[in-house]
Amino acid sequence: MALLSTTDFPPLIKKHDGFSHGRIDLHSHTHCSDGSLSPKTLIDRAVNYQLAVLAITDHDTIEGFNIAQDYILEKNIPIKLISGIEISTAWQGFEIHIVGLNLDVKNSALQQLIVNQQQAREQRAISIGEKLAKCGFADAYHDAKKIAGEGSITRAHFAKVLYQQGHVSTLQKAFDQYIGKKGRNTQRAYVKPNWCSIEQAIEVIHTSGGTAVMAHPIRYDLSAKWLRRLIVHFKEAQGNALEVILPQMNPQQRQTMLNYCLEYDLHASMGSDFHHPNKWSDLGRNLILPDKAKPIWAMWA
Ligand code: AMP
Ligand code: MN
Ligand code: MN
Ligand code: MN
Repeated sequence: MALLSTTDFPPLIKKHDGFSHGRIDLHSHTHCSDGSLSPKTLIDRAVNYQLAVLAITDHDTIEGFNIAQDYILEKNIPIKLISGIEISTAWQGFEIHIVGLNLDVKNSALQQLIVNQQQAREQRAISIGEKLAKCGFADAYHDAKKIAGEGSITRAHFAKVLYQQGHVSTLQKAFDQYIGKKGRNTQRAYVKPNWCSIEQAIEVIHTSGGTAVMAHPIRYDLSAKWLRRLIVHFKEAQGNALEVILPQMNPQQRQTMLNYCLEYDLHASMGSDFHHPNKWSDLGRNLILPDKAKPIWAMWA
């Protein structure tokens, strides 16, 4: 696959030490969950884009980290890989993603949580398949499993099936018409998942030596009142950081996120949430923390 040019990047981040100089991206996906690149291809892309630090944060799995780390050591690739995971949690009827960074991937509590989450994913996938069958799409479960392969099965795989079979004209429409939930409105083939709680996710991340980050707070479709409640709950559960910078945020959103960090004494993380090469975002692109934020990597010094 052709790599995009790197010339449209901002200058390398120079002001933060601890992690030397260079671009930092602490949220990305591989084909071990719903990303399209293999761990090795993702590393090649990160190097081509001059990233100094990358975290792989697949949904409820750490498989990509081991493969990528072996590749880095074998080829002596100049990049610092941070172990990571994006854990799906349930809170007040919402699905909230908690990213764990810099953790011991061999920790037994983490491995047990992953087993439980994978069971929840499998059961939900079967139920989604049944609901989609009632909508007239008989083999959706089987087809989604085929795309997911050995990896974590997600709704993104179902969206791809509906799109590829011509049942919806965009991936987004698969969520809007069948498998999604907006606020408290659920679509026909939405299935309530059996995720762990925010407290459980944070506790396991800490037990395995990691740092707990609330992923993309702006993407939950929460009112200001509910977002504040969520952040208060996260802080009370000993969460460490908010993901304050991600692609396509406006200045107002950046300021709001920074204010929450300052108000609740939380560190700040940033990441592209890269899944596939696309026009609007890419690894490490336009990711710079506001001056007043406490970078999450200061916790790892
Ligand atoms: P899951 O973790 O199985 O619920 O799958 C959710 C994944 O689907 C997210 O991580 C996104 O990568 C992708 N996705 C794309 N569009 C949407 C949407 N409108 N709502 C939720 N997830 C979406
Ligand atoms: Mn995803
Ligand atoms: Mn997410
Ligand atoms: Mn993600």
